[in-house]
Amino acid sequence: PAAQRDESGDEQARRERIFASAQERYYEQPMQIERGWRHHLVDTTARAYVDMVNNVTGLGHGHPGVADAANRQIRILNTNSRFLYRELAEYSERLLATLPDAARTPSPDGGREALDTVLLVNSGSEAVDLALRLAQAATARRTIVALREAYHGWTMASDAVTTSAYDNPWALENRPDWVHVADVPNRFRGTHRGEAGDLSVGRRYAADLGDDLDRLAVEGRDVAGFICESVLGNAGGVLLPEGYLADAYARVRAAGGLCIADEVQVGFGRMGASFWGFERSGAIPDLVTIAKPMGNGFPMGGVITSKRIADALATQGQFFSSAGGNPLSCRVGIAVLDAMRDEGLQENARVVGERLAEGFRALAERHPIVGPVHGEGLYLGVELVRDRGTMEPATAEAAAVCERLRELGVIVLTTSERSNVLKVKPPLTLTAESADFVVDALDRVLSGGW
Ligand code: PMP
Repeated sequence: PAAQRDESGDEQARRERIFASAQERYYEQPMQIERGWRHHLVDTTARAYVDMVNNVTGLGHGHPGVADAANRQIRILNTNSRFLYRELAEYSERLLATLPDAARTPSPDGGREALDTVLLVNSGSEAVDLALRLAQAATARRTIVALREAYHGWTMASDAVTTSAYDNPWALENRPDWVHVADVPNRFRGTHRGEAGDLSVGRRYAADLGDDLDRLAVEGRDVAGFICESVLGNAGGVLLPEGYLADAYARVRAAGGLCIADEVQVGFGRMGASFWGFERSGAIPDLVTIAKPMGNGFPMGGVITSKRIADALATQGQFFSSAGGNPLSCRVGIAVLDAMRDEGLQENARVVGERLAEGFRALAERHPIVGPVHGEGLYLGVELVRDRGTMEPATAEAAAVCERLRELGVIVLTTSERSNVLKVKPPLTLTAESADFVVDALDRVLSGGW
């Protein structure tokens, strides 16, 4: 109705008056979202959409358990983390318990310590910032190696290791001197290409990283830390080549550096088969950064590391975050972990994710524009290409597909340097029925018959 359209028009005008131009919004004609329930969003015209975008609300929108926990705790106590209270210890222990056993014990060769210490902050950017500072403090070195095409946050330090040209067209030209950018191990369109089981691909990328580390040492820029996502989220859920992560970590450790796994997007059960993204590679990091789904939308972030690395921060002064790790966020965090367990959401991500990926792969058989289907669980990427041989990105087509999917009631957006990957990262409550609806909608759009 016209009145409702006017309302969202007003909202857009208000937004344009008070927002900066760098604060992007989705869609040419954005809808005004009013409420959400599980993996659905509803706009002010009462139109419902399947939400394939919100990986922050892992439990789904409007989760009653989280709402009740927050409501209860804010009436009882909310203060900062310099007091003793049960919630902080309880939540930290619960977080540590999500790690695989091997990560909670030191490596047999003594090259890696047990991940047994938690530091809580309020966002992913803060978590990455803190992890970088910890790596530098613990090694008494400065150089951080990050991968090309990565997003790690907006604070000064997390932005310094954000190398994605999509987020910053000057990303590779203006890195600070303490950041070294290494090649992105993408076996589909990178320097080294090959099939899934081809172990030489990961080995070659890791060897290139090793060469970088040698060169840095010669230049007197010994590595403090190496940061990467355990699955390349910004590229659209591209799985690392087999063997790469373990090989890369071994080379970084041999060079005296620490390994940081950014699990802000891909951790917390989303991969289905494992709770953490790094588990799928068998490699174990020295620091893990977490955020987005920890609070199901409540702002939370954290770093999991060893006591020795965490204690190194004392050489630089104190660590304190006013709201990080307060009783309210800890209660919310516990409610999220309870719901993950009680509602079987990791398993749902595995089962429904598999069905969704199969559906997308079946579309590839009929629509030549569908290239590789990336990812695992409910972190998938459907790469659209004009030519499967050259991998020429179908960027304009991907944007048009998203607009048309919206008309059919599916919210999905693009990602990657080339904005040609449909990024699929819905709440983990996604049902088989909704997954089929999404695949069917994409089929209709690609068939031109919507
Ligand atoms: N790391 C990764 C991998 C991310 O995707 C993001 C956010 N997109 C961040 C860090 C930063 O998190 P936040 O937006 O909570 O600051």
